[in-house]
Amino acid sequence: MSYLGVDYYPEHWPRERWDLDIRLMREAGIGVVRLAEFAWCRLEPQPGKYDFTWLDEVVGKMSKAGLKVILGTPTAAPPPWLVKLYPDVLPVDHQGHRMPPVMRRHYCPNNPNYVRLSVRIVKAIAEHYRDNPTVVGYQVDNEFGFYGDYCYCEHCVRGFREWLESKYGSVDNLNRAYGTIFWSQEYRDWSEIHPPTPPYDGCNRSLALDWFRFRSESFVRYLKRQVDVLKSVSPEKRVTTNLPGAFPADVDSYALSSELDFASLDCYPAFGRLDKEDPAWTALEHDASRVMGRGVYWVMELQAGSTDGYFNHPIGRMPEPGELRRWAYQAIAHGAEGVVYFRWRTACFGKEQYWHGILNHDGEVNRRYLEVKKLGGELSRLREVLAGSRFESRVAVLFSYDSYWSLQIERGYYTRSYTDQVLAVYRALWLRSINVDVVPPDWDLYRYRVVFAPFLYLTDEQLTSRLESFVREGGVLVASARTSVKGSCNNVYPTGLPGRLVDVFGARVIDYTPLPPNAQAHIAIRGEKHPAAGWLEELAPTTAKALGVHDYKWLSGKPAVTVNELGRGRAIYVGSFLTPELAEAIVDLALGKEVAPPVLRRGDFAEATVKEKDDGSRLVFVINHESEMKKVELLLPEEHAITLLLRGAKLRSDRCALELGPHDVEVLLLEK
Ligand SMILES: [Zn+2]
Repeated sequence: MSYLGVDYYPEHWPRERWDLDIRLMREAGIGVVRLAEFAWCRLEPQPGKYDFTWLDEVVGKMSKAGLKVILGTPTAAPPPWLVKLYPDVLPVDHQGHRMPPVMRRHYCPNNPNYVRLSVRIVKAIAEHYRDNPTVVGYQVDNEFGFYGDYCYCEHCVRGFREWLESKYGSVDNLNRAYGTIFWSQEYRDWSEIHPPTPPYDGCNRSLALDWFRFRSESFVRYLKRQVDVLKSVSPEKRVTTNLPGAFPADVDSYALSSELDFASLDCYPAFGRLDKEDPAWTALEHDASRVMGRGVYWVMELQAGSTDGYFNHPIGRMPEPGELRRWAYQAIAHGAEGVVYFRWRTACFGKEQYWHGILNHDGEVNRRYLEVKKLGGELSRLREVLAGSRFESRVAVLFSYDSYWSLQIERGYYTRSYTDQVLAVYRALWLRSINVDVVPPDWDLYRYRVVFAPFLYLTDEQLTSRLESFVREGGVLVASARTSVKGSCNNVYPTGLPGRLVDVFGARVIDYTPLPPNAQAHIAIRGEKHPAAGWLEELAPTTAKALGVHDYKWLSGKPAVTVNELGRGRAIYVGSFLTPELAEAIVDLALGKEVAPPVLRRGDFAEATVKEKDDGSRLVFVINHESEMKKVELLLPEEHAITLLLRGAKLRSDRCALELGPHDVEVLLLEK
């Protein structure tokens, strides 16, 4: 962990205020500031005429104060003159209406004019700050994706046809792959192909999934243009882009982040909520972002106050005392190198008038500022001990964008969503203090002992052969209902289920049924009953052994959970969607004695996330995510010298009892 930061919009405030803001930032221990991400109209007030004077002044003040700067490229908000000159940059919806230029993200990434003008402003910024050591990096654009169903402009339609042509080679190949004989859709020419329109499940499923892939690749290609410009001017300045949550629907964030020096997550745990957030989901997003950045990621926007009433969400609850600090420590525990609060001060105008920053509208020092200041002081004291600590994992949970998109296309078909099932497994691991990487299907799986692949709806040939060799070489693979139903074209395998993985799991699905939401269904594993839900499958083992049986109407007594010994590993299949209880039972089954939690917990629950250090010592981040005091006891495998880094106490023991107040945190240093 190196950086505590803040997102700052000096262009929203009078010049006379800047010095005070910067002084308050410094006093709070802030070391980095993100600037200018939506300032195109000030940086290029007329086409091709640039004005960096105001930004130079701010960057100069930052430099004097010892602060570093990350500059946003301003392309998420094209200025009015640009839209007036080139109205075709506006995205077009499926009914042919252009998106009005009244918000932000009102551009099509495939529009040649927009790409040209983006490259021009990005180049101007990069060249202007090339030799400025205060500017250490760039954030490209902001939160890639469309607001709504876009874009069907002529460039996108033509681009989609060319994309299909390069993928399939001939329309005959595409017809065969898609099964266009259904409803007499066989094409004779590329020009006969039209992008699918919502609701996507009314369209050919292969066409719909390829459209999702094409849209995502359009954003990745657009990002790459900007990255190339920035790197060609300043190879040493680091480049990132900030994701709106780990899994935006419009763009594959693993593919997007692969073009970057590090990944960045915008993390609003209580966005739009009046109730408690789910800290397991936040942890999951961190564990995905770290993988996206190949070990390096930042939280580029961390919630600093109540969130605005966006898209029919209510104005969110105000974070309670301690929550800003807790969220930052959770990010650091999961490997974030930088934590940047959004935003410095709450805006009085524009769209996000209730998207609260650290300071309220009045700009006065308040309890949230004092909390960030406390955190800043702690992090500067802990800097040395936190440096070089690593998050290591022997367990992975697979996140497949193909499966995610396919199930979005079939929205409402199942009573459990893809993310719900991924989270069910993740939560069971998180509750056991097992470190997890949330990985894409093309990730190196061999570094893990256990891989969970819940609801892996789509599997292509390459993935199935990699999963098989992962098991043969000693790995443990776990899948649940509706796995390998479809191939890469989003069509159902004609060979029975689970598709290409029948031999890996040594079992076939011979009967299945969706369940009503309140159905009483259970699975008994070694005599213990666990609630099942959503979807049941009867399994017929071929080489596998049955480990669990159903308890539901005609399926009662039939195999529900199987384990197949294959090569040096094993593959476990669960014929149900996962409930929290069932997920916990399956996780225990899969981990066995081979992947033991590094710490055991007794008493109340608190997150305990472990990081390794090169000298063999370990850090344990213990986080109370609740509003009530918790009494936790951590049990270690052997006696250690334990330092409570925040409380300042030391002891030598194989256990440590802690009382954590509401939202409180402790960081333990364990030395042999
Ligand atoms: Zn377009």
